Amino acid sequence: MFKKVLIANRGEIALRIIRACKELDVPTVAIHSEADAITLYVKKADEACLVGPGPVAGYLNIYRIIDLATQKGVDAIHPGYGFLAENHEFAEACQENGITFIGPTPQAIRDMGDKILARQMMKRAGVPVVPGIEHALDSLTEAETIATEIGYPVMLKASAGGGGRGLRLCHTTEELKKNFEMASSEALKAFGKGDVYIEKYIESPRHIEFQILADNYGNIVHLGERDCSIQRRHQKLIEVAPSPFLDKELRERMGEMAIKAAKAAGYTNAGTVEFLVDKDRNFYFLEMNTRVQVEHTITEEVTGIDIVKEMIRIAAGEKLSFTQDDVQISGCAIECRVNAEDPRNGFLPTTGRITAYYSPGGFGVRIDGNVYRGYVVPPYYDSMLAKMTVWGRTWDEVVARTARSLDEFVIRGVKTTIPFYRMIMRDESFKKGEFDTHYIENNFNELLYEDEMEKIDLVFAIAAAITAYSYR
Ligand code: ADP
Ligand code: ADP
Ligand code: MG
Repeated sequence: MFKKVLIANRGEIALRIIRACKELDVPTVAIHSEADAITLYVKKADEACLVGPGPVAGYLNIYRIIDLATQKGVDAIHPGYGFLAENHEFAEACQENGITFIGPTPQAIRDMGDKILARQMMKRAGVPVVPGIEHALDSLTEAETIATEIGYPVMLKASAGGGGRGLRLCHTTEELKKNFEMASSEALKAFGKGDVYIEKYIESPRHIEFQILADNYGNIVHLGERDCSIQRRHQKLIEVAPSPFLDKELRERMGEMAIKAAKAAGYTNAGTVEFLVDKDRNFYFLEMNTRVQVEHTITEEVTGIDIVKEMIRIAAGEKLSFTQDDVQISGCAIECRVNAEDPRNGFLPTTGRITAYYSPGGFGVRIDGNVYRGYVVPPYYDSMLAKMTVWGRTWDEVVARTARSLDEFVIRGVKTTIPFYRMIMRDESFKKGEFDTHYIENNFNELLYEDEMEKIDLVFAIAAAITAYSYR
């Protein structure tokens, strides 16, 4: 096992990794910006180092991070998700400095980070991919020809895209023309690479992904699927496991394909193979994420396997201690990403001090977060405050338990997505397990819920005013 692990990340995922290390009895080093200096994950790590400059650049500073790791006698780095997690140069730099990168090889990160190359590799291996092309478009004329061939609507996609960005839906030639101009220059700006390709737009699909674990000795297992169809602007909000849409037969076929995909990528450590599944239950490879995923917690809840600990063990050279047959799915889990966003104001990110915080509890409720009363939500990072993962023996039970837990959850001072999720848990289609990637835009265009926290805040404000007036 490792002597000491540095976590090249922040927030809830840093805390998640620290917890895994503690259970493995491995000391940890956290890195942090000035803005993050007094947050929970920094306190929970055995050691902490400031990485500057500024709130973000430090977390992306490969050489400074490797330098700190060397100074601190660290022999492995966990990158979390986001930041440097899918940066093959970082994984390479770790290797060159004799530090183990807790993740796949630089080669696998680079290959799967290039969606065009990933499509080529999957097609060659016999994994069905979304109909489209496996090279970068070089002209609008070419784009038009291909779009006509595969049929509208189509999607223009940045080969290096991620996080729901770099995707453009085109219904007509006019839209294709309009988008083509911008797609490449935007991709170059956002991802450092201008390559854009074209894919058939699958109507009303489900996003269903498989969690993979692979050791360095050729053993690969999958831990079943997660249904991540509840999205807004191609970003996941709520994820469930298992998918209410799959039956045993399709699950087995997709699981086998996911393992085939991981083999084709020469994959080791934890990864996720994402698929789109259409109404007729055809499934297509979408992309592979070469890191721990935000929503890994629901898979942990239904399999009982600690994915982050497995990542560390695999990186330390241990063999997988279980086979595919040992992996049993038990019950259902739902994750809600509690974001500091105002759903009734276009999900605009909110910032400020958390004035009250009460986290739900009881049977089957798990919180992965880095916030508490007094925490100031900074404007620099993504808006996720906490993940609430709930387990139940059946789908009906987990939905009811999630609704109950959301009702208990109190966060005041900043607006959050909690009231919105309370509505979803009471929505008939959701309760029946009927949703595709358009669920939110089709069902929640107008958000008319009452935020009882607003009323309470108003009462407190009036009380404070009266008190101030009477003691004048
Ligand atoms: P997951 O499937 O794990 O939910 P997300 O797409 O939500 O993955 O990404 C996790 C985090 O990584 C988010 O903070 C997201 O903004 C960030 N991220 C992922 N890919 C990229 C990318 N290519 N560029 C910038 N940020 C990214
Ligand atoms: P990212 O790298 O940003 O995660 P993905 O390729 O995984 O991008 O796609 C993100 C989401 O966008 C999918 O979950 C799905 O909702 C939508 N999407 C992407 N490609 C297609 C497609 N060809 N047809 C329909 N929806 C798509
Ligand atoms: Mg994706």
